[in-house]
Amino acid sequence: MLVLKYHQAWDVRTQQVEALSCIEPDDVVVDIAVCGICGTDVGIITGSYPVAVPGTTLGHETAGIVAQIGSSVTQFQVGDRVVINPTYSCGHCRMCETGNPNHCEDKFGTEAGVSYDGAFAGQYLAKENLLIKLDAHVSMEEASLTEPLSCTLTGVDKLGITHTNIRAVVAGAGPMGMLYIWALYERGVKAFMVEKNESRIQFAKNNLPPECRLYSDFDEALIQEYGDKSTLIDLCVDTTGQLTEYIFDHLAPGGKLLNVALKDKHATLDIMKIADKSLSVIGSIDSLNNSFDRAYAMIRDGVIPVSRLVSHVFDFEDYEQAFLTVGCDLAAKKQVPLSTPNCKVLIRMSHLK
Ligand SMILES: [Zn+2]
Ligand SMILES: [Zn+2]
Repeated sequence: MLVLKYHQAWDVRTQQVEALSCIEPDDVVVDIAVCGICGTDVGIITGSYPVAVPGTTLGHETAGIVAQIGSSVTQFQVGDRVVINPTYSCGHCRMCETGNPNHCEDKFGTEAGVSYDGAFAGQYLAKENLLIKLDAHVSMEEASLTEPLSCTLTGVDKLGITHTNIRAVVAGAGPMGMLYIWALYERGVKAFMVEKNESRIQFAKNNLPPECRLYSDFDEALIQEYGDKSTLIDLCVDTTGQLTEYIFDHLAPGGKLLNVALKDKHATLDIMKIADKSLSVIGSIDSLNNSFDRAYAMIRDGVIPVSRLVSHVFDFEDYEQAFLTVGCDLAAKKQVPLSTPNCKVLIRMSHLK
């Protein structure tokens, strides 16, 4: 089968490898239908998030059809349509036992698309307990957004939202920003969005939740929303990682800043304000507390209209074009500006529906 392998920064190419088969009793081989491109993939390819093990197949936002089951598998049969939770946890390390399985100490060698062969591939070797059977009306494309939505729900959980009348903002209109603004909307919070990139703006402006507005400048947003650029806000989800200090200075007492950007960036914060204003600076990554199941249920039930967040679907043979669309020019080995209205980019790995 054909797979997309990471070798080192900017050295990412397709190659043929052996087809997979079940090894452990609870293994399930899945024929991949769709796999989404994630910001993590971009970070790995560009070298800005140097976590991937050379030789690993990339891709972790994925759905497909069961091709083979291990001897102890009872919940799935060959032919079942499934979405794959790529986040393994061992269940018995210190992190797992203290309620942080998203930081399982056994991640090395088990993290799909990072240290374990991922799903930009014809097949993926999954575990039975990390699959969910798809309802007939859920498309493979929609199902592939379960993982990023799951990460979003993990972050929203951490915000501990109790009031819907708060002033809330989402910074960045990429796939994560769009998922966050929809997930907040589902909790009754109408956030506004700030995004500077014209390609992101062009896509996002038609796909925001009702009554959620989009601005290209933060001060301008505060003026338009509240009449004054010194207005303090209660909640910010920063998907850009660039605005920490600016937002920190604009937090109301009790305010919360959630950073979900994997960016190598340092900020200086006034510690006294954290205490004196009861501020929270929060981080979040991956899935937690059954967020994957909850994310799937929200997609299944149409609570989050994930198909509206997909801007492009490419065939696997056009993967270079797909990565170019998210700003990775693999041929020239450099990052380039986004050039088309842009949000979630998916790759069709096969014709499987
Ligand atoms: Zn992802
Ligand atoms: Zn563990």
